[in-house]
Amino acid sequence: SKAEGQNRLHVFEPGLLLIRRLRSQLLEDLRAAIKGNGLVLHYQPVVELGTGRIEGVEALIRWDHPTRGRIMPDEFIPLAEDAGLISELGLWVLNTAVGQLRTWIDADLVDSRFSVRINISATDLQSLQFIEDVRAVLKETGVRPEQVVLELTEAAIVRGNDLDRYSLGGLRGLGVGIEIDDFGTGYSSISYLRRLPVDRVKVDRSLIEGLGTDPSQPALVAAVLQLVRACGLEAVWEGVETAEQAEHLRNLGCLSAQGYFFSKPVPPERIPALLAETSSE
Ligand code: C2E
Ligand code: CA
Ligand code: CA
Ligand code: CA
Repeated sequence: SKAEGQNRLHVFEPGLLLIRRLRSQLLEDLRAAIKGNGLVLHYQPVVELGTGRIEGVEALIRWDHPTRGRIMPDEFIPLAEDAGLISELGLWVLNTAVGQLRTWIDADLVDSRFSVRINISATDLQSLQFIEDVRAVLKETGVRPEQVVLELTEAAIVRGNDLDRYSLGGLRGLGVGIEIDDFGTGYSSISYLRRLPVDRVKVDRSLIEGLGTDPSQPALVAAVLQLVRACGLEAVWEGVETAEQAEHLRNLGCLSAQGYFFSKPVPPERIPALLAETSSE
């Protein structure tokens, strides 16, 4: 009954103290995971719409917690940010993803056009140390800088102070690609799009949700594409879940896309098979 349900809720409602204790335990665990091996990167293909070729992958972090099981980034990235662990985590992601790319290059699985995309936090963007870390991993691995693309959100950039611009410039000076993530969810997109040293935007999936069902959606997608190109940039479309969406995007002249329709994010050992499937031309 409803009353019973409410009682139960009451019984299980954790006190503030318990929440704090859980949180600090979780932080301890996260610290250990960054140093040990509880974190894993999965990789999701970015596909060239015209040919189906996999042009790169995006690295997406997961945390395999010893007792809680898999924890997704939306749950622990904010925690890491609050606790000052995000730089350490970002460095782990950078080194792991670029190291993985090196392994694929060495195994002749990918060519020099293939890129790995790495999500970076606002904290990374504002840290001059991060630029040095990127420089160091490129030097260590010998990976060509164009094969590393850093994805950063509008929110991170819109803070828009000079240091950010300097960091972006510094990163770009290394030759790595810079992509604005979740494009279309902020509100000052247009004014900064032309000024910033970025190469591409990744359009948020909310902009293509209605493709195939809402008759006005293709015109909106076309307008966004035109806007992005008018700024001298190219767009990647994320969150493609259906064949209709992929078909619409291709017909509208979009070049690259990503989403469950092509592949979910997968552990690195599944990437060779995906590459083999799509490179039959
Ligand atoms: P994001 O960068 O926008 O990544 C896209 C998210 O959409 C991923 O969720 C991906 O698994 C999911 N996705 C991909 N295709 C589809 C689709 O077709 N439909 C739907 N509904 N979802 C799709 P995920 O892996 O849970 O990551 C969530 C967010 O966590 C990311 O959003 C990113 O902001 C952050 N994140 C992930 N990995 C890292 C990392 O290594 N460092 C940092 N700083 N942030 C990360
Ligand atoms: Ca991303
Ligand atoms: Ca995104
Ligand atoms: Ca996001």
